Amino acid sequence: MASQHFDVVIIGGGISGTALLFALSRYTDIKHICLVEKEPELALINSHGRNNSQTLHCGDIETNYTLEKALEIKASADMLVNYMLKQGGDQQLVHRYPKMVLAVGESECQELRDRHTLFARHFPYMDLLDAKAIGRIEPMVARERKDEIVAIGTENEYAAVDYNLMAKSFVTAAQELPNKTIDIRLATAVQSIDLQQGRFRLDLNGHEIEATSVVVCAGAHSLLFAQRMGYGLDYSCLPVAGSFYYTPQVLKGKVYTIQDDKLPFAAIHGDPDLLELGKTRFGPTALILPQLERYRLNSVLDFLRVFKPDLRVAQVFWDLFKVKEIRRYMGKNILFEIPGIRSRLFLRDARKIVPSLKLSDLSFAKRVGGIRPVMIDKANRSLLLGEAKISPGNGIIFNMTPSPGATSCLANAIKDLQIVAAHGGHRIHQDQLNDELLTPQPPAKNTAQP
Ligand SMILES: Cc1cc2nc3c(=O)[nH]c(=O)nc-3n(C[C@H](O)[C@H](O)[C@H](O)COP(=O)(O)OP(=O)(O)OC[C@H]3O[C@@H](n4cnc5c(N)ncnc54)[C@H](O)[C@@H]3O)c2cc1C
Repeated sequence: MASQHFDVVIIGGGISGTALLFALSRYTDIKHICLVEKEPELALINSHGRNNSQTLHCGDIETNYTLEKALEIKASADMLVNYMLKQGGDQQLVHRYPKMVLAVGESECQELRDRHTLFARHFPYMDLLDAKAIGRIEPMVARERKDEIVAIGTENEYAAVDYNLMAKSFVTAAQELPNKTIDIRLATAVQSIDLQQGRFRLDLNGHEIEATSVVVCAGAHSLLFAQRMGYGLDYSCLPVAGSFYYTPQVLKGKVYTIQDDKLPFAAIHGDPDLLELGKTRFGPTALILPQLERYRLNSVLDFLRVFKPDLRVAQVFWDLFKVKEIRRYMGKNILFEIPGIRSRLFLRDARKIVPSLKLSDLSFAKRVGGIRPVMIDKANRSLLLGEAKISPGNGIIFNMTPSPGATSCLANAIKDLQIVAAHGGHRIHQDQLNDELLTPQPPAKNTAQP
C-alpha cells in the first residue's frame, strides 16, 4: 500500500510545532499538513506551564539581554499578543499584570539606572521606580528591606502565557481553516526519518508516511534526529534543568532580578503561578542533568547519543568550570535539589526578592520544571545560548529551543515557513501575515508612578 503523502510533516506538538502548524496553514497555500506528537496530549513537555516560567519575554525585565536581543524578542512577543487579539477568540492566552526587574544594593542600582537610560526610548512603558513606587506595586518587595533598591517596571503589561493553552489554540485555529487537511497524530512517536529520491519517509512505529518537507520541533530530541541523518554533528547538548519553589501569594506580578554577568544562566525571579492559583513561584534553578526530557529516565540514553564528548566539548566544560563563580553557582544549584537542606539554601536567594520570606513559606515544587537544551557549538568551542536551527537546504529543518523558545515560537515559525514554502514552491500570504502578526504592539500607557 502506498504511504500517505503530506506537503509538510511537523514532529513535536509543543509550542514550536503547533505555532508552525498554525503559521503554515494560515499564511501559505500549503494544504496537507501532519503533526506527530509522541505524548497523548499536546504541549506536555517543556511547553507545559508547569515546566517553564510562563513568561512572555519582552526584553524589558531580562537584564541578560542586550538592547539588540531585547528588541528582537519584543518583536517575537508582539506576535503572540497579535495572535491572541486577532485569532485567539476570547481566551485569556496572554495575561497582563505588573512586572519589574529589581536591583538590590548600590552597584546593581547604578547598573539598572544606566540600563534604563539606554532602554527607555525603546520601552517607553517601563519606568524607573524608587523604593516607594516599588512598594506601592509590590508591597512585599519593599517591606523589611535594608539595602537600597531600584526597579524598572510597569503595572499593566502583557507578561505571562500558559503555553500549553496557546499550543492547543494554535491547533484549533489551524483545524478551523477551510480547504486544509490538518492531521494531528497524538501518542505516536516518530522512530526514524529517511530521505529517498527527494522525499522524506517517516516511520511511525511501523506505519510509514511521506512528506515533501519535514520540520523537527522535538526539543532536545531534534538534535538526535539531525545527527541520525548525518547533520548537526558539530553540536553537542548541555541539558540545563530548572526547578521551582512555591510560597503563598506574596507577589502581584513578575519580579526579575539582575543577571550576574559571569553566569550564562538566567537569574531567578518570582511571579504568580498561572496554574497554581494563590501561589507565588520562585525559580528557575539551573542544574545540569544528563537527560533530554525531565523526569523521563529513558531520555538519559538519548542524551548519551547526542552528547558525543570529545576534546572540543571538554574545552567548553573547562571554560565554564574554570570560572569560580560558575563552579559555586552550579554547586549551589545541586544543593537546591537535596531534600532537607534545599529550602533553607534557596531561601537566601528568594529573600533577595521578598526579604520577609520565612523557611515555612517555601516548598519545593515537585515534578515541576523542564529542561533547556543548550547547544554546544563544537566548531567554535562555545555555548550557543538561545535557539538553534539546522537547515541543510533539502526541505528538512531541526529546531532546538531553550529559553526564550516559547516566546519566539511564532517568529521562529515564520523563518521555517519561508524555508518550507520555498522548498515546496508554495505561495506565502504575506499581506495577511504582515497585517495579522507582524504589526508591532503599541506600548500601553504606563500607570506606575515613578
Ligand atoms: C525551567 C524553564 C523555564 C522556561 N521559561 C520560559 C519562559 O518563561 N518563557 C519562554 O519563552 N520560554 C521559557 N522556557 C523555554 C521554553 O519552555 C521552550 O523553549 C519551549 O517550551 C520549547 O517548545 P518546543 O515546542 O520547541 O519543545 P517542547 O515543548 O519540549 O516540545 C517538543 C515536543 O516534541 C515531542 N517529541 C519529542 N520526540 C518526539 C518523537 N520522536 N516523535 C514525536 N514527538 C516527539 C515531545 O513529546 C514534545 O511534546 C523555559 C524552559 C525551562 C526548562
